[in-house]
Order: sequence, then structure tokens, then C-alpha cells
Amino acid sequence: MKVAGVRTHIVDTPIPEEHRVRSGAGYKLARQAAFVEITTDEGISGYGPCSFGSASLDLGSVATLCDNTFAQALVGEDPHRIERLWDKLYYGSIVRVHGYRSVGVAILSAIDIALWDIKGKALGAPIYQLLGGAFQDPVPAYSSSVYWDTPEGAARQARAFLDAGFKAFKVKVGLDVENDIASLHAIRDEVGYGVDMLVDANQCYTRHLALRVGRELEQLNALLFEEPLPIDDVDGHAFLADKLDVRIATGENMYTRWDFVPYIERRAVHVVQADASRCGGISEAKRIFDLAGAFHLHAIPHTFSDALTVAASVHLVAACSNAPMIEYDATYNPIQTALVKNPLVPSESAIELPTAPGLGVEIDWDFVEAHPYTGTIGIGAGSRPAFGLGFEVIEDRSAKSLA
Ligand code: MG
Repeated sequence: MKVAGVRTHIVDTPIPEEHRVRSGAGYKLARQAAFVEITTDEGISGYGPCSFGSASLDLGSVATLCDNTFAQALVGEDPHRIERLWDKLYYGSIVRVHGYRSVGVAILSAIDIALWDIKGKALGAPIYQLLGGAFQDPVPAYSSSVYWDTPEGAARQARAFLDAGFKAFKVKVGLDVENDIASLHAIRDEVGYGVDMLVDANQCYTRHLALRVGRELEQLNALLFEEPLPIDDVDGHAFLADKLDVRIATGENMYTRWDFVPYIERRAVHVVQADASRCGGISEAKRIFDLAGAFHLHAIPHTFSDALTVAASVHLVAACSNAPMIEYDATYNPIQTALVKNPLVPSESAIELPTAPGLGVEIDWDFVEAHPYTGTIGIGAGSRPAFGLGFEVIEDRSAKSLA
């Protein structure tokens, strides 16, 4: 079998105003997807996503980069040789030209996942079977997320997740420490302690603010404290991991195993959150999860983009013994619910493994055609890691807007 062609598809779905959410990662205006289609000379095609669910970059440039540059390295190659092709793209151009923390790695992720999809279809097996088989089925899922709100509003959001059947959910903080702490207490008052609460600061705190909130999280029995600090502050994470009795988590903005190595070496993380459609694909996420497992650490993949990323992450978590759950985006997101005809959705806080070969989901081409990329920005810039000094490029994202 040989690769016959590579083509990137990009889709765009605006978020109606009543469904827009805010966090330290930015104010979301649209959900957008870029996914790669790899065709073969035997009629089998595979699909893989880049993780830019709410894009703050021009997805047209992503498609051009993939289709004009990466594709040339793939056409004519045997798609079954995933590790070889991963190395060819990574060492052949990414580390030399694009950078190992780059859109190039996200495109490599899409290509890797599409190759796994092809392999599964060619062999007639779901991807998790090729990764060693199901360690767990179904895969537990937590709801993402309770977004920036007043304490009363945050409690209402959390209650809605429980009413929908979720047994775990995440809460976004990093807006205002007093409001953050009041919201977390209001949520526990509303839902009690019989449900897992994850807390995500999207890199918005300084060390001393993270320590203060972290001490509250100890009392509130939070399951983990996600991205408390900017990801370049490895020592800060190590400081928090040493001081706090709450698990430190990070990884959604990290690329390849080499971003995780210093965190693991310096005991700065307890839960790695690699995103399969950004960190280097299913292949690289599995390597990162296994690396974490060797140090008795857990892995919970970041999954906040599209239906293909959910599917890739389900296969990954199913096959890993140290991955207790998957993130499930519960915001308004057509690229997660309608990009494929048979999306993997949780029921009672868990997702059943697909039985079809490969990723096990089928692109809805009518949806793709009906939602062409418009070139508009999907999300504003994220906040600075200092309370009161957040910046943004899109209006209507501030503490005042919650009043
Ligand atoms: Mg996060």
C-alpha cells in the first residue's frame, strides 16, 4: 500500500452569543477544525485532526503548510510504517525549520492519527486493539467545564453537569482569586464531595496566587490543579508539587515527549495532559503516557476540539493502564457533535469503545461542505499570569462583563 495523496480540510462554526464561554485561554467566538485526509492507492483513506478547536491562527495557513510541504514527504510511502514516517517528518523538517513546539507538530499529529486510522481499516481492527487492547471499556469521561462566572452561576453550571449524568467535571479559574475561591466553595456547597472536581487556571496565576488557591483546593478535595502557572515555569510547578497536597497537572500546550521530560525529571507534575492531536499524534501521546507511567504518574488527555480528537483519545485512554479518564468538551461545539456521523459521546460519565476499524467514526461530508472556513479568528488571546493584568484582542472578556 502507498500514500496517494494528502489534503487538509478546514471547517468553521460560529458560536451563538448565548453559548460563548470565557477562560484564561481566551474568549471563544467560533469552533474551528483542521483535519487531514490521507488517501492510498488501495482505496483506504484515513483522517486525523490538528487540535485548534477554537483557533487563534489562520487555519488556511495550516492547510497550505500541510498540503504543500508535509504531503511531499508522504506520497509514495507505505502508510503502515508510522514510526518511520513520524521520524521522517519530525527530523526531516520540524526540528530544523518549524520548531518542536509548533504548528508543524500539530500537523504531524494529524498525519500520525490518519495513518493509525488507515492501519486500523486495513487490518480490520479498532486502533485500541493495535495499541495492546482494551485496558478499560468503557472509558470514564469528565465534563469540561464550568466556565468563568459568578459563584451562583458556577454552582448552577456544576449542577447541570451532574444532572446530565457526569460524575466528574472541571472548573475554570484564573479570573479573579476572590471570585475563583468563592466559586469553588459555592460549587462544593451545591454538589457535595461525592463528585470529582478538577480545577484549571489556564496558566493565569503567579506562584503565590497558585499557592493560595492550591491550599483552598486541598480543603475542597480537588482531584487536580491544571496549568496553575505558565508552562515555561517548570520550577514553579515543582514548587507547587512540593508544597501542595493536590495533584499538579499540565500538558495541553506541550509538544512531544521532550516537553514532558523536564517536568517529570524535576518532579513538577503528577498528571500529564498531552493532547493527541497536538503533541505528536497517537504515537507520541502513547509514548508520553508510558513515560509518565514509568514514574508512577497518571495521564489524562486534553480533548477540547473535535470529534476526531475525541475518537483518537478514546482509543489511547482505552489502551493505557495509567489513564483513568478522558476530557469531554461539554460546551457548544458542532465540530465535536456533527463533524462525524457517529460521534463518541459519554453516557453516565463514560464512553463506550467503538467497534468499527480504525478511529471508528465516519466524516459527515455534508457538514464539512456546509461549514467552510471563513478566515475569522476563533478565540482571543489568553490572559497574562498576573491577576488584574489580563489582556485580550476581543471585546467582552473581563471580570466586569460578569457583573
Ligand atoms: Mg486546560
